[in-house]
Amino acid sequence: MTTIGHWIDGKPYSPAAEKTSPVYDPARGEVVAQLAHATPGEVDEAVGAASRAFEDWSQVSLAKRSSILFGFRELLVAHTDELARIVSREHGKVISDAKGEIGRGLEVVEFASGIPQLLKGEYSPQAATGIDVYSFRQPLGVAVGITPFNFPAMVPLWMAPLAIACGNTFVLKPSERDPSASLFLAQLWADAGLPDGVFNVVQGDKVAVDALLTHDDVAAVSFVGSTPIARYIHATATEHGKRVQALGGAKNHAVVLGDADLDNAAENLTAAAFGAAGERCMAISVAVVEDSVADALVERLATKARAVRVRPGSDPDADMGPVITPAAKERIERLIGSAEDDGATLVVDGRGHVVDGHEDGFFVGPTVIDHVQPEHEAYREEIFGPVIDVVRVTGLEEAVDVINTNPYGNGTAIFTSSGEAARTFQRDVTVGMIGINVPIPVPVAYHSFGGWKDSLFGSSHIYGPEGVAFYTQAKVVTQRWPRTRELADRASFHFSGDS
Ligand code: NAD
Repeated sequence: MTTIGHWIDGKPYSPAAEKTSPVYDPARGEVVAQLAHATPGEVDEAVGAASRAFEDWSQVSLAKRSSILFGFRELLVAHTDELARIVSREHGKVISDAKGEIGRGLEVVEFASGIPQLLKGEYSPQAATGIDVYSFRQPLGVAVGITPFNFPAMVPLWMAPLAIACGNTFVLKPSERDPSASLFLAQLWADAGLPDGVFNVVQGDKVAVDALLTHDDVAAVSFVGSTPIARYIHATATEHGKRVQALGGAKNHAVVLGDADLDNAAENLTAAAFGAAGERCMAISVAVVEDSVADALVERLATKARAVRVRPGSDPDADMGPVITPAAKERIERLIGSAEDDGATLVVDGRGHVVDGHEDGFFVGPTVIDHVQPEHEAYREEIFGPVIDVVRVTGLEEAVDVINTNPYGNGTAIFTSSGEAARTFQRDVTVGMIGINVPIPVPVAYHSFGGWKDSLFGSSHIYGPEGVAFYTQAKVVTQRWPRTRELADRASFHFSGDS
């Protein structure tokens, strides 16, 4: 059986493999590889390689950096099918969805390719007589990315291209559940001409993460994952003097008002709830529905949920694949059961879903639960499976109240034909990313991505303009070139902008 290792200083690294963990093909329920977990010593080697590479990489011209990013972009496009197969095999998502996540990552690469434009500074000539003030931004050093299982290609691509374009070097610690995409990306970086040591990968779990968070030579940490770990990463890395952005979990609500086009809303909610088996941080997991249309919407959701084609991700006709691990399947099925115990109505029950020829796969069928109350466990927990809760409300005011009371604030959406309702909604909800008749409002690469409340720790959203700011620090220069002795003599003992 293959042992999956690290990528350090421009090449694959044969690990000590003192500790390993299984990597599954979730559609078959089989272990397909063992993952070698990095020891603190191996993490130190990766950070050391990145530190050494920073000395030269931070001095490389903007033109050269941009051209390497363009090269990487070309390779990513050329190898999308291969990468999508790798993602689908270990994650389980359908191939078209795996290509979709690579496409969203590609957008960030394209944005980062414009780094000369993004790093242009500001200049104020004659801020005072004979004095010019200007600012520019410089890289931080070694940046670290710690990423979740659900987007093994896209989330690393939210981070590394921009960090590297800004002149930093990078160490990626991917999810231990689907680690191969990260090594494929490492090879593409090398083929694009990125110097050795600029992009590194260390595999593993808490041991590797802790070694990174506390390493003296790490300057910044980008994290995407669940809320408890995001909170921990932010606290620990901040305590060790790092700049941190830590994106956490979610419970995304979509409001359906009485004046919405119900067929359109049901179609969109079905895709947003069950796509990628609900394992998306921007999945819609709660429909908040106005009473007057709740029965009609639930009926439509149930019909559509039953029609979802649940098959292995490699099947071109599949809408949705398995979930990631046996433990994830067990947890999701337990939470579905808890809703029934708490008094909610199971309209479509996806427990015990079996796919012919893949009886050992980790499949859970689409599930629709009606009459869910905010105190139910199935509402409070991020289920991260193909499950949609329906919460019934009297109108927009109560819907906003439900959303604002929820501790998460990643994404939300509203389906309505009223501009006034949509405007009130977008202004009043305490959520970072909002869709108006758009179910999954993941911002394009030239805006930034981030939630509010327990969905983000740290002040910086990821990628886009906030990503550039996160991976750089500003310098402001105040300069004077006195032409005569007389000007030089005007040095003042008092602090003044008035001269
Ligand atoms: P996770 O928090 O379990 O793992 C994320 C990363 O943290 C992995 O690399 C993992 O190895 C590491 N990790 C896990 N436990 C750790 C510990 N105790 N100490 C240190 N490091 C640890 O998340 P996951 O299950 O891989 O991914 C799903 C979660 O990620 C969901 O909650 C989802 O909402 C969230 N997510 C959020 C966003 C976002 O943009 N906000 C995007 C994608 C996923």
